[in-house]
Amino acid sequence: MSQSEHPSFSTLSVWAGEESSSWQRATQVPVVHSVSFGYEDIETWQEVALGQQTGHIYGRNTNPTVAVFEEKVRQLEGAEAATSFATGMAAISNTLFTLLSPGNRVVSVKDTYGGTNKIFLEFLPRFQIEVGLCDTTDFGAIEMAIAQGCQVVYLETPTNPTLKVLDIARLAQAAHRVGALVVVDNTIATPINQNPLALGADLVLHSATKFLGGHADALGGVVCGPKQLIERIYHYREITGATLDPMAAYLLLRGMKTLQLRIRQQNESALRIARYLQAHPKVSQVFYPGLETNEQYELAREQMRGFGGMLSFALQGGFEAVRAFLPRLRYAHRAANLGAVETIVGVPATTSHVESTQQEREAMGIPESLIRYSVGIEDTDDLIADLEQAFTE
Ligand SMILES: *Cc1c(COP(=O)(O)O)cnc(C)c1O
Repeated sequence: MSQSEHPSFSTLSVWAGEESSSWQRATQVPVVHSVSFGYEDIETWQEVALGQQTGHIYGRNTNPTVAVFEEKVRQLEGAEAATSFATGMAAISNTLFTLLSPGNRVVSVKDTYGGTNKIFLEFLPRFQIEVGLCDTTDFGAIEMAIAQGCQVVYLETPTNPTLKVLDIARLAQAAHRVGALVVVDNTIATPINQNPLALGADLVLHSATKFLGGHADALGGVVCGPKQLIERIYHYREITGATLDPMAAYLLLRGMKTLQLRIRQQNESALRIARYLQAHPKVSQVFYPGLETNEQYELAREQMRGFGGMLSFALQGGFEAVRAFLPRLRYAHRAANLGAVETIVGVPATTSHVESTQQEREAMGIPESLIRYSVGIEDTDDLIADLEQAFTE
């Protein structure tokens, strides 16, 4: 797999941003709840306010705990700069609204996260921004849509819930030929498995709520990229106000210390579970880019260091089978979330695509009996045994 020369992610997960947390000699990053930061002399205050000196002024703009979170993600993504948000959707919407103006055009795919899809279909058109949504794996068609001219190419890979893989390097080349910026949602892969910036993307963003935090106890979002772009996005966020809370930043930071350990385990389990499901007579289809039979296996292998902790599968017997199967699982939350230490299951109609209609889901090629399975850090054999008893009961 490519990119393997990247410096150790396990060390970065623990230390990045935390080398010099020195407040009262605390070894852990303090949670600074103070909304404002005071200055004795007006000169220093003004210099900090104008960004000529480092420091903080007001919590909507910057905060010391939040800054450490941004620094950790920045280093993991190998970016020049990073800025954070209250949620992943805030990161996505703020980025799009920073980069796009009336009369502009954005090219993306049909399989983006449900909320993102709503921004494309409901909000951007209201601002006279044209949206072209292509078939997710038809790279030729996406290249043609890009060549017609656009300002932003928005990608998400692997996608949720059918784990389709987009060729970031190829589509970034097409985008740069027409001067468009490439934004990649890296939530499902995480920086452990994939660094979109190294593949040619201009910006990479995350819902930190998912794998980055990893404990389903804090919402957050983050965008990384070149300083000059991040400054614009930060400016939009400091004015519009979708700021990450310091307590959430602390929880995300604490979760991220085990990011590499968790992802390593989840990669391994997901692959074994996908293989188990593929061989199961009650399963009609398994979606996981790490399966050799997956159409995009070679691309995933080239682009990713690991195939991720998310998979989905369709049951024989339609939605009725799903209704009977889900309650029987012992080691799984039935919830609208993913990327946590616990295994989480859901169906698109109540999770990723709750914002979409049945027709829209069908148009996206999401089977009615699809189950999304976000693998936790439980023992792999225990998870497989749990699935087995749920099938046989
Ligand atoms: C959950 C998710 C989001 C939205 O993140 P929130 O933190 O819930 O706002 C965006 N993209 C992907 C791929 C997600 O899974």
